[in-house]
Amino acid sequence: MPVELSVAPNRSLEFWFPDGDVILSCPQPDGRPFIYRVHKFILSQHSKPFAEMLTKESLASRQTLEGLPVLPLPEPATEIYKLLCCLYNALNGAAFHDLERPITRYDWLLRICIQYKIEPLRESIISQLKTEWPITLAGWDAREAHIAVLRRQHAAAGGRVHDMWLDDRLPEPVLTIHTSRSIGLHSIGPAAWYDLTRRDPRADWNALHTILTRVLPENERLLAQGVRSARWGALSAQDLLALASLKETLSMLVRDMWDSKRMPQMPHPACEARRNEILDCAKEVAIATRDPLHAAQAARQYTTKAAMCKPCEAELVESFLTFRVCCWQTLVKKFLNIN
Ligand SMILES: [Zn+2]
Repeated sequence: MPVELSVAPNRSLEFWFPDGDVILSCPQPDGRPFIYRVHKFILSQHSKPFAEMLTKESLASRQTLEGLPVLPLPEPATEIYKLLCCLYNALNGAAFHDLERPITRYDWLLRICIQYKIEPLRESIISQLKTEWPITLAGWDAREAHIAVLRRQHAAAGGRVHDMWLDDRLPEPVLTIHTSRSIGLHSIGPAAWYDLTRRDPRADWNALHTILTRVLPENERLLAQGVRSARWGALSAQDLLALASLKETLSMLVRDMWDSKRMPQMPHPACEARRNEILDCAKEVAIATRDPLHAAQAARQYTTKAAMCKPCEAELVESFLTFRVCCWQTLVKKFLNIN
C-alpha cells in the first residue's frame, strides 16, 4: 500500500502545476527533498526511461503525497529544474542555458539528457559543443575570430560585459576533456587539449569562479586582464604528462619549421633577410602567446605586407599555411580516438 512521504519537502513555485499528476523528488544539500508537481505525459513524451518509470505498475509501489505518486530522482533539484525548463519551455531558445555562457559548462545537463534519453536536447548540446571545440582547423579559426571579437568588447568596456569577465563567457578545456571521455565524444578533444596548452598555469578556474575567492584583488586583476583559466586540479598525473608532451611536440614543430638557419636559401638576399626577420618574430610570438597557430596566422598576414618580391612572399605564406595544417594534423592524430 502506498504511504505518505514522511519528511516535509520544499516545493517548487514555478513547476507546481495544479493538474500535475506526478511528483518528482530531488535531493538538496541540506538533506530535505525538493519537489516538483509535473505532468507524466511531458516527461514520457521526451524520455523513454521516464516513460518506463511512470507506468501505472512502476508507480504503484511508490510513496505518495496528497494522493500523487512521488518519483525520487538522484539528480540535484537545481539540475532537474533546468531539465524541466527545457521540457516545458522548448520554444524559448534560452530556456536551457544562458546564451552568454558556453555550453561546455552544461556537462551535467548533457549527462541527464543521456541518462534519460532526451534526444533532441542531447543533440542540440552536442552540436553546440562541437562548435565550441571544432575538429577542423577552419572551425578553430572561426572560433578564435569570435573570441577575438569578445576580447575586444571586454577590453573596450574595461573588463566586464553583461556583468561577466571574458573568462566567464568562454569554455574551459579540462571539463571538456572529461566530457569528451565520459560520453565518448572524442572529436572535441584535440581543440580542448590545444587550448589547454595556452592557459596560464597560475590562473585556476576554481579560484576565479568561486564567489568568495574571485573578488580577491589578485584574482580580479587576472580576470580584468582577460586571463583564460583552467581546472588544473582536475587533471590527473597522466593528463599532466600528456599536456607536457603536447607542449614539447608543438615547440619542436616550431623549431623544426621556423628555424631560419635550416630554411633553404632564397633567390634574393633582401627577401631572405626579411624572411628571417619574420621567422624570428613569429617564433617569439609563438613562445609569448603559447599559441603557434596564432603566431603562424599573424606572420602569414604580416608577410603579405612585408617588402618581399611576389614569388618569395608566396613561398613564405605557403610555408606558414603548411605549418598550421601540419600542427593541426599532429594535434588531431595525438588526441583523437585515444582518450
Ligand atoms: Zn624575392
